[in-house]
Amino acid sequence: MSRSAIIAMDGPAGAGKSSVARRLAQALGFTLLDTGALYRAVAWAADRAGVALDDAARVTHVADDLVRRGAIRIEPAEGSGMRLIVDGRALGDEIRTPEISMGASKVSAIPGVRAALLDLQRDFAEGGVARGVVAEGRDIGTVVFPDADLKIFLTASVEERARRRHVELAARGSQVSLEQTRAEVVTRDKQDEERPIAPLRRADDAVLVDSSALEVDDAVALCLRLARERLGERG
Ligand code: C5P
Repeated sequence: MSRSAIIAMDGPAGAGKSSVARRLAQALGFTLLDTGALYRAVAWAADRAGVALDDAARVTHVADDLVRRGAIRIEPAEGSGMRLIVDGRALGDEIRTPEISMGASKVSAIPGVRAALLDLQRDFAEGGVARGVVAEGRDIGTVVFPDADLKIFLTASVEERARRRHVELAARGSQVSLEQTRAEVVTRDKQDEERPIAPLRRADDAVLVDSSALEVDDAVALCLRLARERLGERG
């Protein structure tokens, strides 16, 4: 039996990956896998347990323990969204704060954390996703699914990414300024690009999509066209 189709979407913070990936999944009847939410959940769980995020051994233990107990679960949600359940609690806005964004970036550089989350991502794509999966993150095309049917590297100028992220945060009632948001985006990208393990980078065979001048609808339409061309070839 052939595996489900996999579309890998990577790119820096604020490039629009979550909205484009969700809508692409919806249009194709695929399931969304938002892998950033997993790193956010580890940062959130470690913080709640009073573990310092730069304590690699203890943060790894938190991640391992969650995975081993089956306490971190990914479930498809309405409208091709994804629900992340940690210890029976569906995580939402509490993992979308600027603090957790930076925390996720910190814990994601810990090799033990990445190892703990790797099988979870692969197992999800192998079991129970009806037609296929759109997985978005930083290392999907390079590490998690190097054999993905289509790899897209979605990016945009730093100004545009900071602006989008700021609009998103403001919509959730956050008071952070555009300047602070820009600084967070720049720091996070630098950390993600420079870490020794699974750094953010475009896979050699990924299609580069620059969404700086694109509306979300246009970015979705472009990705959908790429997906149909590629998946059509897959037969
Ligand atoms: O995509 P999102 O902004 O939710 O990701 C939060 C952080 O999680 C990123 O800044 C990155 O450090 C980490 N991440 C990762 N690998 C992934 C997805 C996210 O290292 N595949």
